[in-house]
Amino acid sequence: MPELPEVETVTADLRPHLVGRVLAGCDLRFPSIVRHPSPEAFAAGVRGRRIESMSRRGKYILHHLDSGELLVVHLGMTGQWRYVPAGTEEPTHLHAVFPLDDGFELRYRDVRRFGRLLLGTDSELVAERKMPRLGPEPIDSTFTAGDFYRRLHVRRAPLKTLLLDQMVVAGVGNIYADEACFRARVRPDRPANTLSRQAVGRLREALDHSLRVAIANRGSSVADYRDAWGEAGRQQEELLVYGRAGQPCVRCGRPLALVRLAGRSTVFCRRCQR
Ligand SMILES: [Zn+2]
Repeated sequence: MPELPEVETVTADLRPHLVGRVLAGCDLRFPSIVRHPSPEAFAAGVRGRRIESMSRRGKYILHHLDSGELLVVHLGMTGQWRYVPAGTEEPTHLHAVFPLDDGFELRYRDVRRFGRLLLGTDSELVAERKMPRLGPEPIDSTFTAGDFYRRLHVRRAPLKTLLLDQMVVAGVGNIYADEACFRARVRPDRPANTLSRQAVGRLREALDHSLRVAIANRGSSVADYRDAWGEAGRQQEELLVYGRAGQPCVRCGRPLALVRLAGRSTVFCRRCQR
């Protein structure tokens, strides 16, 4: 599932191509991929609009339109947001096509259809519960260990559950939650309120490091993730614990444990993580 590094890679790659472009049309092949507003209002609202800027917030790609609204793309589990020359052979599972004014088109493809397209202002999308009220960006320098500690120490839920909660911190999913817990040497199943300030400080650094290294490696291609050009990332080869249950811990050699937390498989080392 695309997390912060994968979504950042797609956003950064597309930005130089899309800023200033006009969305000349909107062809919805599978209209229910639009979750807000109605598919008809969505198509009418994007058609003819210029993309003024692009940004990422959590796992959301935001296209700031000249109407003041945001065209929001969330890739879900298997979504792909591609920029291709118009007329390029169409893949299967193509759900939406947006012809641009430069002879290219944007394509949204999603085999499992857990992704979504949204249109509206930031406050409208939050009020309509189409986007969560996102927590801070974990790679933002203004996000401090003290802020993280204040968010975690009032909660008794397992640490992993809170790392996946987009309102606690934005953009983290199963892969980088496990990677950060391992680097910080904390167990993902610990009640969050039992973490010391020092452990939260390590976790904040580990999260920042895991996400930045993954961005440098253009994300992890586990399952179907592909960048805006259809290419795989490289970070999956560098992961320390994710997808390695039963394999030796890179630090101590003991087989890595697998448990389920927040409904997600979770891998950690019983010896190195406390
Ligand atoms: Zn170990």
